[in-house]
Amino acid sequence: MPQWMQDIGGALHEPLAWSYFRHFFVKYGIAESLQYLVIVTTVWLVLHVVFRKRLAHRLIAEWPRRGDMPREIAYAAAALAIYAAGASAMLGLVGAGRIEVYSDPLAHGVVWLLASLPLLLLWQDFFLYVAHRLLHTRWLFRHVHAVHHRSRQPSPWSAYAVHPIEAVVNGSVLLTWLMFVPLHQDVLGLYLLHQVVRNAHGHSAIESLPAGFNRHAIGRWFTTSTHHHMHHESPGGNYGLWFTWWDRFFGTEHPDYMDRFDGLTTPRATSSLHARNTSIQG
Ligand SMILES: [Zn+2]
Ligand SMILES: [Zn+2]
Repeated sequence: MPQWMQDIGGALHEPLAWSYFRHFFVKYGIAESLQYLVIVTTVWLVLHVVFRKRLAHRLIAEWPRRGDMPREIAYAAAALAIYAAGASAMLGLVGAGRIEVYSDPLAHGVVWLLASLPLLLLWQDFFLYVAHRLLHTRWLFRHVHAVHHRSRQPSPWSAYAVHPIEAVVNGSVLLTWLMFVPLHQDVLGLYLLHQVVRNAHGHSAIESLPAGFNRHAIGRWFTTSTHHHMHHESPGGNYGLWFTWWDRFFGTEHPDYMDRFDGLTTPRATSSLHARNTSIQG
């Protein structure tokens, strides 16, 4: 039996290890849940309550059903518990010297400190693009990923509404990364913050980015709320999480994505003029 399996087996029979696990499970569970609640509630309040009327013309399809919220929050609570359990278990691996989460910013140099977050996001995006494609195979979709797709008109509350198995897949991004490279604790914090903010924004049902973002030299490579909303509407494309390049490279970007984004972000006066000109020409 490999050494790491013996270590885990030993830890499972160690009461002190379980007491540490419980302590950090509660600590991380509360911290992650608070972060989730603050960010998701803020995005929802700003876009769906305070500016509801002003942003109505940016509504991608229909307003999400309030009835979806209890189910979405229940699945999010389960996902957050799994992430907290994963973080607590990872701490055991840090203690055992199997993976490294460091606190001295200069321990691995400034270059690594600055490069590690973008590289980790690239890894997460690629890992979850592949995982997402697999989750759309017949058996996995029916038994796992369908939970997330029950929200046909997603809202920020849909962000973490995933089957527990999908939560394990999401959590394994970090473990697979830490198995090979070290990570500064604040970079880890930013990674988790980015995850909640981008997920809540991507499920916001409102296109809040400026016109032309989808065609800008840099902006075109980032996914938008429209991009992911279209995935919920018709799950056969737009699998990308943070970036659009894997969908473009593998030919899975929805063919109507660019037009849909343009239509939502173009000022109404211009679009009605365009419609009138089109009908005159037609
Ligand atoms: Zn989604
Ligand atoms: Zn999907």
